[in-house]
Formats: sequence, C-alpha cells, structure tokens
Amino acid sequence: MASQVVREWSGIQQFPLATQTKLLEYLGKLKQENVDSLTILVMGKGGVGKSSTVNSVIGERVVAVSAFQSEASRPVMISRARAGFTLNIIDTPGLVEGGYVNDRAIDMIKSFLLDKTIDVLLYVDRLDSYRVDTLDRQIIQAITYSFGKQIWNRAAVVLTHAQLSPPDGLSYEEFFTKRSEALLKVVHLGGGIRKQDSLAFSMPIVLVENSGRCNKNESGEKVLPNGISWIPSLVKTIIDIVSNGSKGILVDRRLIEGPNPNAQHKWWIPLIAAGQYLLVQKIRGLIKNDIAKESKPAWELRDTGAAKRKF
Ligand code: GDP
Ligand code: MG
Repeated sequence: MASQVVREWSGIQQFPLATQTKLLEYLGKLKQENVDSLTILVMGKGGVGKSSTVNSVIGERVVAVSAFQSEASRPVMISRARAGFTLNIIDTPGLVEGGYVNDRAIDMIKSFLLDKTIDVLLYVDRLDSYRVDTLDRQIIQAITYSFGKQIWNRAAVVLTHAQLSPPDGLSYEEFFTKRSEALLKVVHLGGGIRKQDSLAFSMPIVLVENSGRCNKNESGEKVLPNGISWIPSLVKTIIDIVSNGSKGILVDRRLIEGPNPNAQHKWWIPLIAAGQYLLVQKIRGLIKNDIAKESKPAWELRDTGAAKRKF
C-alpha cells in the first residue's frame, strides 16, 4: 500500500468560527488524554451518504459522491493533521451488491485495514428509510464476523438525510425514535449484543445532514431540525467513544486470516470434541470386551444347537 499523505487539516477553516472553536476544544481534550491520532472507519450500504459524511467532517470535497451508486470500489483513507493531531478517516465501498452482502468488499476493507487500529466505526444509514430487514442484519453480522463483537463498543450509528419531513401523523421526534429503535434492534441482533454488554447496548446514534440546503443557525453552523449543530456533535460523539474505556480494534493477520474472531477464545471446543470421541471409542471397546466375556444364556445355546450336546 502506498504511504499515506498527511496534509494539514485546512478544511477546518472552512467551518464557521463557532464550529472551529468547538472542534479545536475537542482536539485539545484528546491531546490532554495523550491521544494524538484517531482512525475512523466509515461503513454501510451504498448510497447512504458515507462519502458525503467524510467530506462534511473533513470540510473539503476529498472523496467522490454519487447519486447513482457508481461509488468508489476500494477503501480510501484521508489523513489530516492539525495542532499535532492526526485524523484518519476511511471511506469504504458499499457493503451490498445485487441484494446480498458483498463479501469481496468486506475482504478488501479487511486487507486495507491490515496493521491499523480502528478507533471508531461509523455505521452509516439514512434516517429517511422505512425498512429494516434481514439484509441489514446480514450486514451487521458480516461486520461482527470480520472484526469481532467488540467493534460495537467502538461504534456509532450515523443517520444521514436528517433534515426530513416525517410522514403525516408522526412528529420528527417520534419518527427518529422509531427509526433508531428499529436500527439498534438490528445491530443488537446481528452483533449478538445482549443487555449485559452495556457499552455496545447503549450505542450512540448521530444525525447528519450533508446537503448544501441544510439549515444554519445564526453563527452559520449547519443545524439539525432540533437546532443542534451536527458537525461538532458528531465529533463529540466520536471522542466520547474513544474515551469510553473500551479498546480500539487492531486489525492484525490473525483477525484477517483467522477464524471468526468471536470464536478465537473458544480453542477448547476442538479439545472437548476430541475428548468426547476418545471416550466413545473407549466405551465401545469396553462393550465389545463384555460381549466376548459374557456367558451365554441357556436359551441362546439351545437355539444355536450347542445346548443339545449339554443334555
Ligand atoms: P455513499 O455511497 O454511501 O458514499 O453515498 P454518497 O455520499 O455518495 O451519497 C449518495 C447520494 O446521497 C448523493 O447524491 C449525495 O448527495 C446524497 N446525500 C448524502 N448524504 C446526504 C444527506 O445527508 N442529505 C441529503 N439530502 N442528501 C445526501
Ligand atoms: Mg461513497
């Protein structure tokens, strides 16, 4: 892989002053915690707004955005440095092709990530979708299978197209709640996450509006319908994940080539299977021995003719 060019994060200056101030404050907080770089992985289906979100956060048009899903076919890492801090953000191809999870895309993402640590996963989907189905669950399962269940301790769900008018009869809040609940449910199911996996179970959901028509507040910041300025809010969520006490996911050879990472600590399963096999063999041997030694009952000897000689 070609060495990564780290440019100055000049896009930050494109943001309104209020946003810049908040972002620099967050970066300062990270430096205080001795974190001087972050690697963010952006994944999801095609056309949900992954690349647009990358561009919005970087503040430059760094990756191609397409309305017609002829999107990038390989992962790209954008690196930007600011005040001694480096932000790496990895845009990836969509995880679905022809109605199925695209295993080739997943393998490509995995090999691209070799020797990198994923600090945060942004799982992107659209707010203005109504369906959550088995395909969504299969995508989550594929991510879990590839990077281990722990990835969900390091994840946020990002919902784009946040500036929507909800369908008649539903308030924005109700629509958002319904959509988030449906998505979180599928993440919990597909990720095998139970209530006691507290971090992953309380996964944050962030709203994003990438459109140039996004409403702005009096400081010029892009705001959500609830008035929250979403770029600082997304960055804050990312930083909270980094400091939630879980570990980043190191993508090493073992993770890429090894068995399902969720089964890595289950090395004892083959041992038990082997033990059971030996036990069955042993029992079979004992039974055979017993049969051989067994003194035959009179009726059996009689039936074979051996009994006649006795009388
Ligand atoms: P990707 O395939 O997931 O990388 O999606 P893109 O970023 O290429 O976006 C697909 C299409 O959706 C493009 O036409 C974008 O302009 C549009 N889009 C992305 N995010 C938003 C958003 O938040 N709001 C609106 N209105 N359009 C968006
Ligand atoms: Mg894209």
